[in-house]
Amino acid sequence: MNPATNIDFHCHTNASDGSLSPTELLALANERNIELLAITDHDTVAGFNEARTLDFENTRLISGIEFSATWQSRCVHIVGLDFDADNSDILDAIQSQKIARLQRGRKIAASLEQCGISDAFAGAMEFASDDNLSRVHFAEHLVKEGHAKDTKQAFKRYLGAGKRGDVRTDWLGMENVIARIKGAGGLSVLAHPDAYNFGASRIRTLVSDFMDFGGNAIEVSSGTQDEKTTRLLAKLAREFNCLASAGSDFHSPAQRWRNLGCYSPLPLDLAKVSDVVRERIRLRST
Ligand code: AMP
Ligand code: MN
Ligand code: MN
Ligand code: MN
Repeated sequence: MNPATNIDFHCHTNASDGSLSPTELLALANERNIELLAITDHDTVAGFNEARTLDFENTRLISGIEFSATWQSRCVHIVGLDFDADNSDILDAIQSQKIARLQRGRKIAASLEQCGISDAFAGAMEFASDDNLSRVHFAEHLVKEGHAKDTKQAFKRYLGAGKRGDVRTDWLGMENVIARIKGAGGLSVLAHPDAYNFGASRIRTLVSDFMDFGGNAIEVSSGTQDEKTTRLLAKLAREFNCLASAGSDFHSPAQRWRNLGCYSPLPLDLAKVSDVVRERIRLRST
């Protein structure tokens, strides 16, 4: 298990595919003495909006989101940090991603129908809050109906890469997402660059494009990632002059291997996005 830290810039609530409510998540962060927290739900700020009204002694919350984006016909994830969550270009992007999620959900359900699983759209929607429909909600429905023993198996059989539920989706382009986050005063972070099944050379091209498009940081350390990957991503951060970000990608206490605030430590020489955020907070309060 990776060590506990006092910053987490990547985690989820039940406003997307996490299991805790925003209030429960913030209470957990407070209990763990996490000083700075960003709730980064997939394509929504609904969880952040609920949590921003709360006041906890040990934890300061900044705005966050994890956008799904298209790059070279593939889906990559971009975390937005410390932006204006009421900005109209961000809200428009969220609305268009919500529609993309619902359209994808219809396609997934149609595809599952072909192998005898009916009514999966309505079933998955039962698990989704605020119409923010995730493949995880399909997985939960498939488990409930006995088509898989757990979420992991549901992905392996039906929803993961190359399976029938892995349908094409038109997310916003990567450049578009970065521009909107920047326009709303925020910082863009390329999430878990090692999690897309790309080889080393394609990861390098991805980081290069991400920075050319105006990105600010890459997630050098993510959740359960091993030290070797962290070293490789640290090297890319140095080469492309990226700030370094880190987060657990926490979704649920049931996933015991991925705890809030836990990830392998960032190499000390890297410029950290958390230091930039701290400075922004300091300047706002003076
Ligand atoms: P979506 O954004 O709706 O495509 O769902 C992607 C989410 O599904 C990720 O953020 C993970 O939380 C989860 N996920 C992806 N792959 C797997 C897997 N193999 N097993 C369990 N959960 C997964
Ligand atoms: Mn997720
Ligand atoms: Mn992600
Ligand atoms: Mn995530």
